[in-house]
Amino acid sequence: MVKIIRLSKSVIGNEEKIAVLKVLEKEFLGMGEEVDKFEKKLSKIFKRSTVCVSSGTSAIQLSLEACNIGENDEVLVPSLTYVATFQAIKATGAIPIPCDVDEDNLLIDIEDAKSKITNRTKAIIPVHYTGGVGDLNSLYEFAQKNKIRVIEDAAHAFGTIYNSNLIGSIGDIVCFSFDGIKNITSGEGGCIISNDKKIIERVQNSRLLGVENDSKSRYKNARSWDFNVKRQGWRYHMSNVMAAIGIEQLKKRDLFFSKRKLLAVKYDQLFENVKDISSLQRDYENVVPHIYVVRINNLDDRNTLKEELLKRGIQVGIHYKPNHKLEYFKTGEKIILPVTDRVYSEVISLPIHPDLDLKDIEYVAKTLIKILPKYLK
Ligand SMILES: *Cc1c(COP(=O)(O)O)cnc(C)c1O
Repeated sequence: MVKIIRLSKSVIGNEEKIAVLKVLEKEFLGMGEEVDKFEKKLSKIFKRSTVCVSSGTSAIQLSLEACNIGENDEVLVPSLTYVATFQAIKATGAIPIPCDVDEDNLLIDIEDAKSKITNRTKAIIPVHYTGGVGDLNSLYEFAQKNKIRVIEDAAHAFGTIYNSNLIGSIGDIVCFSFDGIKNITSGEGGCIISNDKKIIERVQNSRLLGVENDSKSRYKNARSWDFNVKRQGWRYHMSNVMAAIGIEQLKKRDLFFSKRKLLAVKYDQLFENVKDISSLQRDYENVVPHIYVVRINNLDDRNTLKEELLKRGIQVGIHYKPNHKLEYFKTGEKIILPVTDRVYSEVISLPIHPDLDLKDIEYVAKTLIKILPKYLK
């Protein structure tokens, strides 16, 4: 058996195991003290209110709902994202309007978004693909001009810095995911960060079935018995088990970030001047790479290429099948997103996670370069 270099994975040490065991021994597994502690630590890092939830997907759904976005409202979103972003929009009753991405950075094309504004447009969700954020200032200018909300899908961007500001510490509403393979994990989980007190209060309640002020009792490992409910809520809170993992992962974040950056820079060097392979040219001084995507020119047979890489011990991925190509999100008229459609046929994601080292990266890059010619047009 060849040792498989995994595309991505959780990186868990004894610290996480001990922390989980402690929660188990307390026999209070639901939302309680640990969640309060994790939220406080996140709030300190981002210097504003943070609400933890069950996933990045629920973070986006609850953020939209907190903005009163729902039935028949339109939300601008790049088609090149994980299906989670689209499902979160759909879950509110709103309509995801798929936008193209910019050729240079594969982030939402603001010009294309502009052309898709209608009087029903209520929000834009930029997706920080691979960890890059592009020209956020222009995006916010565009949103302000059109009086729409911005909900950042920052699932890939935990740790990324924009104009000297940590992503999450600025912006309207920012959603992170802590699922198993993200830059830090809580097993599953996510959070919502905002300066908007109304939004924060709404999501604090809506994650707990809409039970008003229940969060405060839960933080003390208690719950409220006499309460009011004013609107739809969900069981989207985080559990103490998840928070305990998250707290330990936070302590390791700088190590994780620098390892990811080191590996991505190495890939960039190895692919420099390689014909038919282009890297995304992210600025890894500021960007923490969540995934490492290359675009391949004239790629003919991606599936067989993937199979051969796997035989050689390398697991790769494709981020992402564009959502406008998925049946559930089709809107009637045929949607053509020229850049997204082309990019989809070119992309391959190579292994990147903190348990890899430079030798692994060299093996992956050299193997790809060696076998690639067979798979070109
Ligand atoms: C992971 C991810 C999400 C969803 O997060 P979950 O915690 O898995 O629900 C949303 N958007 C993008 C781009 C993601 O990669």
